[in-house]
Amino acid sequence: MTARIIDGRAIAADLRASVAREAAALPYQPGLAVVLVGDDPASSVYVRSKDKAARDVGLAARTIRLPGETDEATLLALIAGLNADPAVDGILVQLPLPKQISQRAVIEAIDPAKDVDGFHPLNVGRLADGLPVLTPCTPRGVMKLLEAAGGTLRGARALVLGRSAIVGRPVATLLTSADATVTLAHSRTRDLPAECRRAEVIVAAVGRPEMVRGDWIAPGAVVIDVGINRLDDGRLVGDVAYGEALPVAGAITPVPGGVGPMTIACLLENTVIAARWRRQGGGA
Ligand code: NAP
Repeated sequence: MTARIIDGRAIAADLRASVAREAAALPYQPGLAVVLVGDDPASSVYVRSKDKAARDVGLAARTIRLPGETDEATLLALIAGLNADPAVDGILVQLPLPKQISQRAVIEAIDPAKDVDGFHPLNVGRLADGLPVLTPCTPRGVMKLLEAAGGTLRGARALVLGRSAIVGRPVATLLTSADATVTLAHSRTRDLPAECRRAEVIVAAVGRPEMVRGDWIAPGAVVIDVGINRLDDGRLVGDVAYGEALPVAGAITPVPGGVGPMTIACLLENTVIAARWRRQGGGA
């Protein structure tokens, strides 16, 4: 048996096309503001691709770049301005922030109705309550990939590996809402291979290259690999040993080309959802 490959690039392209159609049908142009503080090279690349992707689907994208020495009060004032701007539907502040700025204060300053990253505590709480909400982008993408993999999540044994606030925890919450039976594993979990082997669905978000070995995977399991790890030789690999997993798993996402492309597509979708909810009512 060879696992079916879940093609994140194709699924993300379909989602971007559907977001573009939806945006074009609205009587206004949804607006996304992306804020970058400093000149971290990786963050600059992410911000440029978010801005371009937003323009490509017809959103009014605006990137605001602030110098690395910007103080917290200046950034909070900028966010207050974006909160008050009726043309702005989504606000994304690229993380991490320079150390003189409290990440927590910034996340909490964003209007929850414009919080397209889904990190505001109000949105985190709504997600935990199973209410309609702007869902964090990577976890939202993971759920769409699971949907594309087919099979039911209801009653399925799902293992989420990693408990970060941006990936693992919200994925576990979404899987719980989808009626899976969820185990949330982390660095203190005892006998991780055995926990993995029990799972029908594995979502790996650890940031450890190829940690999940082929013999940790139950035959036929669906494997979503969120990890993006750059090896010394320049290769990009996931948290799952892909070559070992391929003959065992039922379906698997590649790295690159799996979860990665979904994150930005879901950001675009969130911006249109935020616009509809705020301007037309409904939702959260
Ligand atoms: P993170 O904040 O560093 O969290 C890693 C989690 O993995 C923690 O919960 C940690 O456990 C757990 N962990 C670390 N080592 C472990 C081990 N040896 N055994 C078991 N658990 C272990 O990472 P993150 O932000 O969630 O990101 C995870 C990966 O996803 C990274 O490779 C990142 O680049 C990637 N990522 C990809 C996208 C995308 O768009 N594709 C988006 C976000 C992140 P403790 O809590 O016990 O420390």
